[in-house]
Amino acid sequence: NKVLVIGGVAGGATFASQLRMLDDQAEIIVFEKDGTMSFANCGMPYYLGGFVKKREHLIAATPESFQKDKNIEVRIRHEVIRINRAEKTVTIKDHIKDESYVERYDKLVYSPGAVPMVPDIKHLDRGNCYSLRSFKDMLKLDEHITTKNYQSVCLVGGGFIGLEMAENMKARGIKVHLVQRSTHVLGLLEPQFSAKLEEELIKNDVDLHLSATVEQINEDRTLQLSDGTVIEADFLLLAVGIKPNKHLAESAGLTIGATGGVCVNEYMQTDDPDIYAIGDVIESFDFITGKPKQVPLAWVAHREAYVAARHITGDPVPFRGILGTAICKVFEKDAAIVGHHASSLQKMGVPFETAELTAKQHAGYYPGASELSLIVHFCPDTGKIYGAQAVGQGADKRIDVISTAITGNLSVLELQTLEIAYAPPFSAPKDPVNMIGYKAV
Ligand code: FAD
Repeated sequence: NKVLVIGGVAGGATFASQLRMLDDQAEIIVFEKDGTMSFANCGMPYYLGGFVKKREHLIAATPESFQKDKNIEVRIRHEVIRINRAEKTVTIKDHIKDESYVERYDKLVYSPGAVPMVPDIKHLDRGNCYSLRSFKDMLKLDEHITTKNYQSVCLVGGGFIGLEMAENMKARGIKVHLVQRSTHVLGLLEPQFSAKLEEELIKNDVDLHLSATVEQINEDRTLQLSDGTVIEADFLLLAVGIKPNKHLAESAGLTIGATGGVCVNEYMQTDDPDIYAIGDVIESFDFITGKPKQVPLAWVAHREAYVAARHITGDPVPFRGILGTAICKVFEKDAAIVGHHASSLQKMGVPFETAELTAKQHAGYYPGASELSLIVHFCPDTGKIYGAQAVGQGADKRIDVISTAITGNLSVLELQTLEIAYAPPFSAPKDPVNMIGYKAV
């Protein structure tokens, strides 16, 4: 079996490793168009902020280590430029030798990730604009911050990356403006929870511009915002979202779904049974509603990689769908999410009830106690949990417990019954997760 993989980072490299664990005979070749494989995208903001000291710490594997430890060939700076389905081959551009060639496959795994969206800003070329997607992007920004002596940034977009970068740029001593189009940061959060993150940003001296966009970069390189404000920033980080990097799949005639991702079945097969797709490029489905859903996160890519490897080796396990469990650290506050928020349920016309509480994350008398807010949405008839969010320290544990509860089909009342580890530095005899179960009656 000859298996070719397009993309050598989260989905692609994980898939190749999983396949090797399940099949020691398969010939596996990974193509990565950039110069670095298997790097921790998620760690890049923390490298830029100086929390991760060495860039090498972000690199989990190299082509040499993959060859030696796993007998997997990784060709970096090799870009797949065409999928030739009829011949079951791909055409590759070798950027080292500057030549193209063709490679045959029995199975092809497509994990090319996503591309950053570019906001509609007039005279964008007048500014020093960056995005943060590849290792190369990170190295360039890191170098420019130092060599160009950047002192201030305008973060365009208040999603996960914008928020993480706010903290990390402050840690690097850079003045931060954050411009967010909608009324609140992190649109997936309930508005009252986003407001807590906004307080935290302001407390940490981030200049927050809500309900505003950057309209243009003026001739004097100042930034004109839609609300009339003019701000100065040495550079812009564009973090307004991403879209699936699907052009090869599109040209190969594979079906693209309503959310813009490549359609796959529960085993990650596209409509060509010999081509699998995983990671940020695909459209998956919602664990709770079964409807199409796209969640560009690392857990999802890793799980899909495993599911594809199991199917290729003839021992399939189906993918069960996505809850969209996610977390973000904003200075001293953590925000975590699982499942649906109120407005998504309203949009779907799903009747729901809500329980909400604010408690200390651990015993109030133990040093460092702070406020944790928790909200759960559930079905009034069956108690089925539709979603939960938490903001504050200890948000991770609560949302992970509730994510497990949803996966195991526990009702909101059954949250009362969970036996959660307790000692004063960690929780209370009745954890906030238990308490919200009692509140939900
Ligand atoms: P990627 O990991 O992006 O890999 C795709 C690779 O394919 C790229 O290296 C690309 O160069 C290569 N490629 C593309 N086209 C071709 C081609 N034609 N030929 C050969 N190679 C090609 N997720 C979380 O869950 N938690 C986090 O905290 C988190 N933080 C993040 C922070 C940042 C700054 C970024 C950018 C992402 C973050 N993510 C996080 C998202 C997570 O990294 C992605 O969901 C995950 O990497 C997706 O895996 P993938 O394989 O689909 O794409």
